[in-house]
Amino acid sequence: MTVLREATVDLAAIAENLRVLRSSTQATNVLAVVKADAYGHGAVPVARTLVAAGADMLGTADIDEARALRGAGIDAPILCWLHGPDADFEAALAQNIEVAVSSIEQLNAVADAARRLRASDVPVQIKLDTGLSRNGAAPELAGALFARAAKFEAERVLRVRGLMTHVSNTAPAEDLAQVAQFENLVADARAAGLRPDVLHAAATAAALRIPESRFNLVRLGIGLYGLTPFDDETSQQLGIRPAMTLRAPVAAVRRVPAGAGISYGFTHRTSTPTTLALIPLGYGDGIPRQASNGGTVAIRGRIVANVGRVAMDQFVVDVGDAPVEVGDEAVLFGDAAQGVPSADDWANAASTINYEIVTRLGSRVVRRYEGA
Ligand SMILES: *Cc1c(COP(=O)(O)O)cnc(C)c1O
Repeated sequence: MTVLREATVDLAAIAENLRVLRSSTQATNVLAVVKADAYGHGAVPVARTLVAAGADMLGTADIDEARALRGAGIDAPILCWLHGPDADFEAALAQNIEVAVSSIEQLNAVADAARRLRASDVPVQIKLDTGLSRNGAAPELAGALFARAAKFEAERVLRVRGLMTHVSNTAPAEDLAQVAQFENLVADARAAGLRPDVLHAAATAAALRIPESRFNLVRLGIGLYGLTPFDDETSQQLGIRPAMTLRAPVAAVRRVPAGAGISYGFTHRTSTPTTLALIPLGYGDGIPRQASNGGTVAIRGRIVANVGRVAMDQFVVDVGDAPVEVGDEAVLFGDAAQGVPSADDWANAASTINYEIVTRLGSRVVRRYEGA
């Protein structure tokens, strides 16, 4: 290994996960979510892979992320749904990026942008909040939003191509209540004269477990990366394969006596003579300090545990009396089916979720692509 810190991303796994999830969710259309640099996997290569594998649309949180994809020459349909007060809707429309709006102010701003561009019937979507109390128009404001949208449709400025919401994954009953609320709002939109082509509510978890939430489009994120959104069902059980493997070479080895203190604060002291290996990754690379004395790595096919605090650039593992040498490959996480720890293992050690483990990986970690 020539690179100090490397995350390999298996693009073939991502393409295959799309095929598996399209089938297991019986999806009519799939919007592939590549926000936050494709959950840390690299937005451009991942987006290209997903489009080639048949994703119907790409999704990003914001306009800048969508524009970066256009800048890389990706011309597939893209939807983005989270906008700041100064969002550049004109730039979005000029690059054929579809936006979902959550307020009358945003709808007006998109209509203004369409007029400035002298564009007509510009496709737009409306995001509705059915219970998360986050992004999306609150139900009591939806009526006014639909009426304004119908006015812009009559003026041939905009066309409402879709309606969307997002569910909480609290429990099936809670998700179904949100779906019912969404259906009521869809009926209100139709009564106001809107004719949306696409309706969507489900991310990976709901798409897999709440068939009523699928409508005619599902928005898949975490599952495409081969990670499970569930704490009671693994990637393997879902038939998907983790795409990312995080590795580093062992940077130093030392034999220490019993009683040796390790890393800041001496939160661990050895109880017997043992061999320590230094891993050159730390919280500067996204390895959670919260996982100190909890994370594991695979070296020479054995799973060994982190001891002591995770520092900014490094942490230590205790390999016991097993052989280990500088330059041995340490795998922090990858496909558990290959006998290495998973992103879920690190998530558990850090009291967080696999989404955060992969998404937070820092810029010092070089992404290398295979399976393209
Ligand atoms: C991030 C996101 C998704 C994807 O969620 P996963 O749980 O990763 O599948 C879907 N929809 C919206 C609106 C999102 O913000």
